[in-house]
Amino acid sequence: MDIFYDVPLEKLNTFRLKVNAACLVEYDTPEELRTIPAELPAPRKAIGGGSNLLFTGDFPGTLLHSRIRFIQPVEMQEYVLVRVGSGARWDDLCAWAADHGLWGIENLSGIPGEVGAAAVQNIGAYGIEAGDVVDAVECFDTRRQCPVVIKGADCGYGYRTSRFKEDWKDRYIVTAVGIRLTREYRPRLDYGHVRAALEERFGSYVLEQGELTPARVRETILSIRRTKLPDPADIGSAGSFFRNPVVSRDCFDAVVRTAEQRGFGTVPHYDNGDQVKIPAAWLIEQCGWKGKTLGHAGVYGKQALVLVNATGQAAPADILLLEEQIKASVQAVFGITLNPEVEHV
Ligand SMILES: Cc1cc2nc3c(=O)[nH]c(=O)nc-3n(C[C@H](O)[C@H](O)[C@H](O)COP(=O)(O)OP(=O)(O)OC[C@H]3O[C@@H](n4cnc5c(N)ncnc54)[C@H](O)[C@@H]3O)c2cc1C
Repeated sequence: MDIFYDVPLEKLNTFRLKVNAACLVEYDTPEELRTIPAELPAPRKAIGGGSNLLFTGDFPGTLLHSRIRFIQPVEMQEYVLVRVGSGARWDDLCAWAADHGLWGIENLSGIPGEVGAAAVQNIGAYGIEAGDVVDAVECFDTRRQCPVVIKGADCGYGYRTSRFKEDWKDRYIVTAVGIRLTREYRPRLDYGHVRAALEERFGSYVLEQGELTPARVRETILSIRRTKLPDPADIGSAGSFFRNPVVSRDCFDAVVRTAEQRGFGTVPHYDNGDQVKIPAAWLIEQCGWKGKTLGHAGVYGKQALVLVNATGQAAPADILLLEEQIKASVQAVFGITLNPEVEHV
């Protein structure tokens, strides 16, 4: 375990904001979490790659970062259980699974961040969520100061959420995750343009003959993502900044009327029981924000849901101002309040 003080976080947040943490602990085993000195500054917060975080200023407490990075497969009868250290990069796990011909997480290729956070966030993309494959989550319970294993089925996984983000917030530190993968041919292609992109890349024959591999799907997903999302190595961002709002039918009808009056065209939406989900990216785009900059912050030109550190010099205040102005425009035009997906710390 290493303890660092007054630590620059530029490389520990994908927005690349130049903020500092009072203290950072990097631990190598779950047991070390019991021995963290009590006098280190509060509050304590687990952190992965900082790809879903917006630091609103210097962090006054202690960040806890896992360096537990193993990938350990165990063959079961119907599936392959892979135990993975929380500090392993999620995409390294996806690459490992693809190299070993294992299905289950190929559609989640390219998502930044670490394995521990993936189980907290219930990351999702192209019709798959981490919660679909999490068998169990090994944690350190900071309240009882002991290790616990929580079954995936008990983690309360929902759309980009889990009990780790709700009633268990900041209680458990994830140290390893058990992921269920399979050798059975099981591509999931019916989301977005995945099937069409695979046909274009490998020919429809490959799909018809059942000759896809996890590696081929992964390669295709990575290429789709490259066309839509900024690479954090080039442009700072935290991915999708806002949640897609879920509104009442009356509210949706009002949005449709606004769209007609203002010539915005058809409102994209997904029925969600009595309610309707509207893509936040569409609302933001109609308000004229796509590709715009404000100070050092901006809205990504290829995807309006992604706020970026446009000049590389953005301070937290730049991102917060842009967030506020986007929310105000969407509220003024559509009467809808956007909520951030990205966690403000
Ligand atoms: C360009 C880009 C594209 C993205 N695309 C997607 C996408 O397609 N789908 C998607 O779902 N997300 C996406 N994201 C968001 C992000 O990658 C995920 O939320 C990811 O899981 C965050 O991982 P992290 O390690 O960076 O976690 P952090 O951002 O550091 O932390 C996220 C949360 O997890 C908690 N946490 C982290 N590690 C631990 C631990 N060991 N124990 C307990 N709690 C912990 C933190 O306290 C925090 O609450 C994208 C982000 C970017 C920048």
